[in-house]
Amino acid sequence: MILDKTIETWCESHPLIAELVNLKETTWFNPALAPTAQALSDVALTAADIADASARLERFAPFIMSAFPETRASHGIIESEILPLTTLQAALASQHPQASQGTLWLKADNLLPISGSIKARGGIYEVLKHAEDLALASGLIQPGDSYAKLDSEEARTFFAQYSIAVGSTGNLGLSIGIMSARLGFQATVHMSADARQWKKDKLRSCGVTVMEYASDYSVAVEQGRKQSESDPHCHFVDDENSVNLFLGYAVAAERLQRQLTAAGITVDQEHPLFVYLPCGVGGGPGGVAFGLKHIFGDAVHCIFAEPTHSPCMLLGVYTGLHDAVSVYDFGIDNSTAADGLAVGRPSGFVGRSMQRMLDGYYTISDEEMYRLLALMESTEGLKLEPSALAGVPGLIRVLQEQQGYRERLNLTESRLANATHLVWGTGGSMVPNEEMDAYLTKGRVLLALQ
Ligand SMILES: *Cc1c(COP(=O)(O)O)cnc(C)c1O
Repeated sequence: MILDKTIETWCESHPLIAELVNLKETTWFNPALAPTAQALSDVALTAADIADASARLERFAPFIMSAFPETRASHGIIESEILPLTTLQAALASQHPQASQGTLWLKADNLLPISGSIKARGGIYEVLKHAEDLALASGLIQPGDSYAKLDSEEARTFFAQYSIAVGSTGNLGLSIGIMSARLGFQATVHMSADARQWKKDKLRSCGVTVMEYASDYSVAVEQGRKQSESDPHCHFVDDENSVNLFLGYAVAAERLQRQLTAAGITVDQEHPLFVYLPCGVGGGPGGVAFGLKHIFGDAVHCIFAEPTHSPCMLLGVYTGLHDAVSVYDFGIDNSTAADGLAVGRPSGFVGRSMQRMLDGYYTISDEEMYRLLALMESTEGLKLEPSALAGVPGLIRVLQEQQGYRERLNLTESRLANATHLVWGTGGSMVPNEEMDAYLTKGRVLLALQ
């Protein structure tokens, strides 16, 4: 029984559940999608909050540039490029002719400095926000100071009195751990059983304490939360509900707008922008989508992608149960190779806030992520981790749908011909070579079998 109803009853009222339970790749276009102004009113955050986060990242740029020399070229701003996926799009179109409509691009967060994944946005932002709050309150820095001062023994001694903890399947832990340790905080990452060994090793080599659990992500989060509550000097990063994480991700949108303009790409009603975002607990894709809606309004169409084995956000939003339900309740095992997406229960904050903001959700099998991983490498020479490929089939799902979605939104042929499809490539550059080679081999085998 799930909230007093049997699975059979749920499947009758919500027919897509049967497909999810059978682990079939599924696409759902959101009938509750509302005009942007209405959808944004569901979120208790505003454009001013995003601007505040953006300004904070600017203030920290001198510190980041000093502490992480790889960010010197970008003057301490942690940002990734957009890259055209011309060859990949041609390869997709050879199998699905519709895929040649519009233009396919990658947002290369796999190449973000410091931690090589989308978590270098929200995760790092939350650590910086906390550090700034402490440093200002104690007088370690004054408003107007250069934050380069925070890369000093004095600052590290100060931050060493405090600790930061997080529960993570891997990438969030890397971002929080690396930045916390560099500032001087005592950092603890509570990791679930599915976390990769190399991520644990990397964190330990940075001086981070790694606690390992034999269970999944939610349990690691719970344990971390419990241990942190008893310590008033400990800040626990709450991936499921954190407004700061969310705002850190949202800053991506204004930067993307500048990049699209620089690349000569127009976004308006006649030139729609589709953005495909891999979704785990929801904060990353949710924050990015929130930022994008503020800038591009109804011209941007945000779609979340999840593994067939972990469709927590789709299930939560589709049933309206949000975080009251986990994929396990429906007998789905939450077992996937897609790091960062192996999440059984979605963020209730994100699901509820964004119910009317997202155009749709779809699921993708692990095999397909591996195939696309190999195809991305052979066509574009780019190496992404499996999760980061989840957005690639998005344009095919949109262009092949027969649920009346394009018609309802008046996405005409001429508009679709002008469309930009942006795949959010959420991670990959930190994956060790041997691990990446194993991913590629697996993907090539699956491609050959197709
Ligand atoms: C964390 C992560 C995501 C999804 O972010 P959430 O905030 O968990 O939804 C997607 N891709 C990768 C590689 C990630 O690490």
